[in-house]
Amino acid sequence: MTIAELSPAYIRAISPYLPGKPITELAREMGISVDSIVKLASNENPLGMSPKARAAVLAAVSGLERYPDNHDLTRLLAERLGLAMEQVVLGNGSNDVLDLAARVFLAPGRSAVFSRHAFAVYPLATMSAGGECIEVAAKDYGHDLDAMRAAVRPDTRLLWIANPNNPTGTFLPHEEVKAFLAALPADVVVVLDEAYNDYLPPALRADTLSWLLLFPNLIITRTFSKVYGLAGLRVGYALASGEIADLMNRVRQPFNVNNLGLAAAIAAFDDHVFIADSFELNRRGMEQIVAGVKRLGLDHLPAHGNFVTVHVPDAAGVNQRLLKAGVIVRPLKGYGMPEHLRVTIGLESENERFLEALAKAL
Ligand SMILES: *Cc1c(COP(=O)(O)O)cnc(C)c1O
Repeated sequence: MTIAELSPAYIRAISPYLPGKPITELAREMGISVDSIVKLASNENPLGMSPKARAAVLAAVSGLERYPDNHDLTRLLAERLGLAMEQVVLGNGSNDVLDLAARVFLAPGRSAVFSRHAFAVYPLATMSAGGECIEVAAKDYGHDLDAMRAAVRPDTRLLWIANPNNPTGTFLPHEEVKAFLAALPADVVVVLDEAYNDYLPPALRADTLSWLLLFPNLIITRTFSKVYGLAGLRVGYALASGEIADLMNRVRQPFNVNNLGLAAAIAAFDDHVFIADSFELNRRGMEQIVAGVKRLGLDHLPAHGNFVTVHVPDAAGVNQRLLKAGVIVRPLKGYGMPEHLRVTIGLESENERFLEALAKAL
């Protein structure tokens, strides 16, 4: 008996999450300066954070001896989104609320359904809670809702959907998701992960929050990590019926979002100029990268977030050569996509650096 064997088999079966390569690590490995590196690997906001959020963080440094009070952010979200405060669950990043959903509804003997090539946290959260993973084959790299419905078993309690999805960028029209929810057994809780919702063009958006009234088994999750530029502060949230939110809040660590994160999120949420700038920059960058990879004769998946997923036959080799050129993107072998690279949409100059390095690396 080893110490590791004292842990349940379902914990030992977890493969750890692989983050995008940090800039400092590549700088050390290659002996090059941090400033010469372009990181387009973790879907971070190339504009940084909202200046209003920055000011709020600096002001909140006075007061760090106090435990956090999450009331103001909870109330702000409830008011702006037209929900009751009892329907909001704050998380240390939305990753945290995904985990809370799994802990509330899964246990050994229960299962969760998700799509192949979906966000890596779904199997992690499922397995951490002892749930069994039911991975469903993808359709054109996106969620196959009919197959996901067919995969639901009597012991299935959770079903994960990312819309748009990461790392594929695929998007399900909202009417299809709504019809799917309506046809699903009521004892399956659906987590609808809307981390990239803010990057959808207006024509593709829908009032999914109104669905919370129709589907008591729905959890919608959102994050401050992407368009709000606060990935390093770790703030996300879930919206659900009061009943579900109450359960999630019972297992939530009381102080899971820290003072700086709370202050930044409150300021960032209403910084409409920064959000609009981030959105516009992303649309222009998307066109730039899509046009650039097409010129190089490469195919890409339809992009709906702040990244483009490109088909690159020798992705591993190309990735190595990009790293040598100081450009970090995300190889997707771990997502079952060994011939794809995911590139985060950066500043115009960063996108150009990527395209030039890619042309040489091919
Ligand atoms: C980035 C991302 C999140 C957000 O993660 P945080 O923990 O909020 O930083 C959630 N879901 C998906 C699909 C993502 O890509």
